[in-house]
Amino acid sequence: MAGTPRFYGGIEAGGTKWVCAVADDGGDLLATEVTPTTTPEATIRAALRFFGNHRPLAALGVGTFGPVDVRPGSPTYGRILATPKPGWADTDVVSPFRDALGVPVRLDTDVNAAALGEWRRGAGAGLGTLAYMTVGTGVGVGAVVNGGPVHGLLHPEFGHIRVPHDPVRDPFAGSCPFHGDCLEGLASGEAMRRRWGRPAEHLDDPSAWELEAEYVALAVVNLTYALSPERIVVGGGVAKHPGLLAAVRARLLALTAGYPGAPVPAGPAAMDEYVVGPALGDLAGVTGAVELARVS
Ligand code: ZN
Repeated sequence: MAGTPRFYGGIEAGGTKWVCAVADDGGDLLATEVTPTTTPEATIRAALRFFGNHRPLAALGVGTFGPVDVRPGSPTYGRILATPKPGWADTDVVSPFRDALGVPVRLDTDVNAAALGEWRRGAGAGLGTLAYMTVGTGVGVGAVVNGGPVHGLLHPEFGHIRVPHDPVRDPFAGSCPFHGDCLEGLASGEAMRRRWGRPAEHLDDPSAWELEAEYVALAVVNLTYALSPERIVVGGGVAKHPGLLAAVRARLLALTAGYPGAPVPAGPAAMDEYVVGPALGDLAGVTGAVELARVS
């Protein structure tokens, strides 16, 4: 019916928690709900209960932890692929919502959704190329290039790149069950917990955070030279530690060593604009999930 308001749903389906939201047709969030990620059945049921309590939707966007098959037409489209998260491999995060809510469901990774959210409504507004890195329980990167999230053979899995690992400075072997000391294996919240024996939020040893800044800065250098983003938003629970982003910027200035491709010639002030926290805070992912539904 002409003039009838349209509402959109979004889910940031994270490995630790799911954030569900309903938004108006301008993309402003009207209601949100956070539920812990437990079993696939219980978590999906909780999300369906939330949307069942709200207005009929025009479409739903899902930004999920991965790896996930985001290739439309693939026989396993919508399914979580090999994941270390117990019980979640092969979980379909599209069909249960499409079937129960009767609406189109758009899918992407949680980090691509967060990149899209920040690009359309946050720290990346007006830019051509934006990267979003999360450093939390895991590490991941999403990006918007030429107006849309980046896909390819599957989707970027930047958390599993290799970064230099000095076993003298850091004897920890790494926490990734697939690669050991990949980026996520060295720099994630899980890696910090296992290396130091306590969760990142309870760590105040300066040397622990100096090492963390080193790994995040190495990741940012690689991202800078591989993708040439105009800005890198760094979110996630670990990245909230006071002073971490400032330490990353300082190391980035040193590691890029004046080579073109990073905003080095303009000096430290430009670096403050280049590596930033999420303008949307903890709502970047779910805002982007709603944007997936709105713009597709
Ligand atoms: Zn790995």
